[in-house]
Amino acid sequence: MSFGCNEMEKYDRLEIRCPRLGGEVTFAYCKQESGNLPCPRIITCWRAYIPVEAYLKETLTQEEWNRCFNRPPKGKVDTIFELVEAAKKRKASPP
Ligand code: SF4
Repeated sequence: MSFGCNEMEKYDRLEIRCPRLGGEVTFAYCKQESGNLPCPRIITCWRAYIPVEAYLKETLTQEEWNRCFNRPPKGKVDTIFELVEAAKKRKASPP
């Protein structure tokens, strides 16, 4: 499958409800959610609507694909550390 410019732009404007943010986001947003990389959940979120995996395989380099989807899973210590840091930030800046 090959994706032309028009098809890519058509996908960019599509919107779904983001399970993380709780609001509508466009495919263009999901493609760059992690800086210049797609959100790691993009295949799960979009596969019911568009051929997202084929599209990404065509548009990402192997290195980008690996950085996005083949990251080693975080260990429990990393996760706990991130939760503590997030809690410290919330405490430092109350609403
Ligand atoms: S791919 Fe990521 S940013 Fe996009 S809807 Fe899914 S969770 Fe939200």
